[in-house]
Amino acid sequence: MTPRILIVGGSIGGLFAAVLLHRAGFDVTVTERSVKGLEGRGAGLVAQQEVFAILREVGVEHVAQIGVVAHERIYLDREGDIIQRQRTPQMQLSWDVLFRTFRDLLPDDRYQTGRRAIGVVREAHGARVRYADGGEERADLVVGADGIGSAVRAAVAGPHSVPDYVGYATWRGLVPEGAVPAAAAGQLFERFAFYEMAGSHILGYLVAGPDGATAPGRRRYNWVWYRRYAPEALDAVLTDIEGKRLPFSLAPGRVRPDDVAALRADAGRLLPPSFADAVAAEPRPFVHAIFDYVPARMVLGRIALMGDAAFVARPHTAMGVAKAAGDAFALRNALRNGPDLDAALVAYEADRMPVGRSIVAYGQRLGQSLG
Ligand SMILES: Cc1cc2nc3c(=O)[nH]c(=O)nc-3n(C[C@H](O)[C@H](O)[C@H](O)COP(=O)(O)OP(=O)(O)OC[C@H]3O[C@@H](n4cnc5c(N)ncnc54)[C@H](O)[C@@H]3O)c2cc1C
Repeated sequence: MTPRILIVGGSIGGLFAAVLLHRAGFDVTVTERSVKGLEGRGAGLVAQQEVFAILREVGVEHVAQIGVVAHERIYLDREGDIIQRQRTPQMQLSWDVLFRTFRDLLPDDRYQTGRRAIGVVREAHGARVRYADGGEERADLVVGADGIGSAVRAAVAGPHSVPDYVGYATWRGLVPEGAVPAAAAGQLFERFAFYEMAGSHILGYLVAGPDGATAPGRRRYNWVWYRRYAPEALDAVLTDIEGKRLPFSLAPGRVRPDDVAALRADAGRLLPPSFADAVAAEPRPFVHAIFDYVPARMVLGRIALMGDAAFVARPHTAMGVAKAAGDAFALRNALRNGPDLDAALVAYEADRMPVGRSIVAYGQRLGQSLG
């Protein structure tokens, strides 16, 4: 009988796995907590080898061409002068186009929204997922693809299932390009721009619009400002407009107005004028604290972890999507190799544990000047 596979989490990682497994003939269902879906919520990503490989595998290589190119890297000083240039063109693929493409490759009845998992229970030859809506689903294999705050992880990794805060956070903005003042746009657009200070840096680049549009006038400017916070100070940063402390991040519109005003004032005081203007142009900045996480294992019984539910690496690596693609390939290949699910999961874990560990360690090295 074809094994039933339930994937918890329907972002890029869950979809990569679902599409590969569905095409390999498995009975796959994805359950995603978001009610409205994830369309229009991403920005850009630097594609690595695994991403090109998965696009090729499912016959949608054209997606690798949909992005915004930065022709060079520039480094600014505090006054806004360009102090260094590197001719290293780089393309940012549209996260939204990638998401939409893989979502469209999975039949609608295989992708359920508004289903938030709250726990997973192991069974002899499978596992049972409990949902916030009171429902339950049993499967021969449950895959946790539910990201950094995974509800599945504790069932696999045990007590050490909470990611470690590394001492800094990123403030971010995604500004329609027309809202960036002309002088700032003239310096920043079509380039990968950086400004570095002690214990902090900001970078920015253009990405596609929320609909994947890459034509001039329809793109967005994405800036990312890394700032240090002691753990006590992080509590205030991650407390939202309703006074609730969130564990990892605050979404656009959830940052308290006083904190938005303070961010803008700091930008005016600390950043080169073009970056200060880009920060001021974002009415709804959002914030992500940065974490590391290395699980003791990726598989327990018939429950497996993948993507950010398994390993959390720092964003400097730009490898989150590639890591999820690599996990999806490894899981599909292991399961396709034989009827013995348990042996396949052992092989999957042996394949991906070293890769995840090395990506987390790479992120730690890249973040040394901040952490
Ligand atoms: C909306 C969105 C936009 C993003 N935009 C970018 C981007 O522009 N560039 C970039 O490099 N990376 C982006 N990322 C992150 C990137 O997708 C991940 O780092 C990487 O691809 C690994 O993906 P993942 O699927 O493992 O985890 P994630 O992408 O974090 O996805 C986890 C998914 O699980 C769902 N989920 C969480 N808890 C539960 C639960 N209890 N029950 C059911 N579902 C649950 C979440 O809603 C989410 O869809 C984005 C992620 C999201 C969710």
